[in-house]
Amino acid sequence: MIDLRSDTVTKPSKAMLDAMYNAEVGDDVYGEDPSICELEQLIADMLGKQAAIFAPSGTQSNLLALMSHCDRGDEYIVGQQAHTYRYEAGGGAVLGSIQPQPLENLADGSIDLNQVIANIKEDDIHFAKTRLLCLENTQAGKALSLDYLSHAADLCQQYQLAHHLDGARIFNAATKLNVEAANIAQYFDSVSICLSKGLGAPVGSALCGSSELIDNARRYRKMLGGGMRQAGNLAAAGIYALNNNIERLADDHENAAYLAENLASIDEITVEYTKNQTNMVFVKLDADLWSGLTDYMKDKGILISGRYSLRLVTHLDISAKDIDYTINRFKEFFVDH
Ligand SMILES: *Cc1c(COP(=O)(O)O)cnc(C)c1O
Repeated sequence: MIDLRSDTVTKPSKAMLDAMYNAEVGDDVYGEDPSICELEQLIADMLGKQAAIFAPSGTQSNLLALMSHCDRGDEYIVGQQAHTYRYEAGGGAVLGSIQPQPLENLADGSIDLNQVIANIKEDDIHFAKTRLLCLENTQAGKALSLDYLSHAADLCQQYQLAHHLDGARIFNAATKLNVEAANIAQYFDSVSICLSKGLGAPVGSALCGSSELIDNARRYRKMLGGGMRQAGNLAAAGIYALNNNIERLADDHENAAYLAENLASIDEITVEYTKNQTNMVFVKLDADLWSGLTDYMKDKGILISGRYSLRLVTHLDISAKDIDYTINRFKEFFVDH
């Protein structure tokens, strides 16, 4: 199957499985798993932060950040389309008692910083206390520029807000911007990264930040049930991913660009692929064609998802040949419809 639904679908390679098999493990709740300690040190160093904590998912890693930055009754400002607001089952509100203040995402994935300023609440007993600005990079596959991030960081300093990045795909953003991930991370107090997306590990995320913040997050991770004991085999997959699967993200971006360019010649669909896109292509088509297309593709061995807007995601289990095959199946379908 050519699975274009998400970059979460990658399977561990033989070399990654070998690294997992050979990992040394210990009890991580006691801080004694050498592979987890190594992973936490590695990712903290890569992002230029003091410390990091391994978490079972990006959802939990983001929640650890929200809970570490905010108290009960505080507020965080976040994009309408942000994962932390829209796709984490309201965890910040439910489990952290933290109120979200969502704002529209602009076409390039950013949030208008003047809107952010306009939504910071005054110190008044009627209002929640605005504590945190939470951005996402990449947002829907779009890399936010360093210039924008730097302005957002200035704003946070001026208004004394903490600054968190959901950097599930920070390495895609860094690859696209041709910078180190640390150049992006420098503008944030905390950064959550996913090992289980384009980097190809089966499981795992990490939250990076100051030692104090990560110590706090460690208590919340225990509270949320994320203390995982001998999970070093999973950390070993993450270490392998960080050492081997970052440079090749450029191939995914090339494949996505090629896919977008070729699908654009089909009249019946609209391809959305902005110049800051990384490994995602969005395709709009008539609602009545959607289910026929999805079934047709599945029949040809291609999995796609999304309804009126399809999201096609490239990753390390998708080759250039798979992309050519996919383009041809799309063209074929629209010849018949
Ligand atoms: C996938 C993802 C996460 C975390 O997802 P999990 O499935 O919980 O690991 C967070 N933010 C973004 C932008 C994501 O794409």
